[in-house]
Amino acid sequence: MESAPAPARNSYRRLKARLFLTGMLSGKITFRKLWNVVLCTSAYLLKTRRSAGSPFILSLELWNECNAGCLFCRDKKGNIYNINPDSTTFGSISKGKMPAEMAMDIIDQVSKDVLIAVLYTNGEPLLYKDLGKVIRFATQRKVMTMISTNGLLFTEQNAREILEAGLDFIKIQLGGFTQDIYSIQIRYGEVEKLKENIRMVARIKKELNKSTLIMIDWITYNYNRHQIPLIRQFCQELGVMLSFRQGNARGGLEDKETPLPTQTLPISCDWLWKAMQVNFNGDMLQCCEGVIWSDLKPYTTYKTGDKNVRAIWNGPAAIATRELMATKGRKSMPICSQCQRSGVAFKW
Ligand code: SF4
Repeated sequence: MESAPAPARNSYRRLKARLFLTGMLSGKITFRKLWNVVLCTSAYLLKTRRSAGSPFILSLELWNECNAGCLFCRDKKGNIYNINPDSTTFGSISKGKMPAEMAMDIIDQVSKDVLIAVLYTNGEPLLYKDLGKVIRFATQRKVMTMISTNGLLFTEQNAREILEAGLDFIKIQLGGFTQDIYSIQIRYGEVEKLKENIRMVARIKKELNKSTLIMIDWITYNYNRHQIPLIRQFCQELGVMLSFRQGNARGGLEDKETPLPTQTLPISCDWLWKAMQVNFNGDMLQCCEGVIWSDLKPYTTYKTGDKNVRAIWNGPAAIATRELMATKGRKSMPICSQCQRSGVAFKW
């Protein structure tokens, strides 16, 4: 049996290096964007009230609906788990879609500085009918894009559409190589169909001669470790990347699996100085955890056409949150005291 490295949070160093190369070659990474990274990072290190003029990661929840019904994410009825243990509205994370116009409006305002737009947070992006449109818009504005998907809804048509639109990175979740293992965690999905879909996406990418990076996101549990050699071989044959991270022992697996750590980290959080999260309804949040933490007060609720994304990024609510983190650390905010996130990346 192979014991895989399975950190709770993956730092994706190799991926970031490859994305950087892809972005440089495509002209989506410019000197100005790199300078913005330097300014955001300096602001984080110095814990200044204001950050650079723009975040360097923009994370958009296009739609939080999902077709797979994973145990760690939502209940049988599709209700998304609320991670706020003290919520007065426990169990009620509302669902909805972000209008494509809002997504494009926000991307447009930070396009000269943002390195990458992450086009999912908690939902399945292939359900969003305007996904190709938003990716194409970002590509025209020279912004890199990525999605993470369960891969079950890929078709020849939507795969071609998003690859042709210029998507830079696709992460595809897989937690079992055979149906009996795969369906321990994923309520609705056929793993053979998923594997076919992955082969198809890899084939179309080659046909279109695209530089899009494809990565299999193997979520490691005790119950699926023995299948790691199979997934390694699968990825090698297709020439796609493979990453490992520890699964979330929730939804009935609590007694069988190792829990994710919960202690408060003694380090400050980068997100507040480097990345911006927008929920489907326009709520501008301090980070991606906010989309599943009910009652989190947003910086503001954005309306399409407001044209003030940069002002919100360095507005009073963002500054007050940074000040709390800078002076009192993660314990100053309930959402942060339980959070294991360090560095900035996509949600998982
Ligand atoms: S510590 Fe976690 S919850 Fe708090 S802002 Fe950072 S990423 Fe979000």
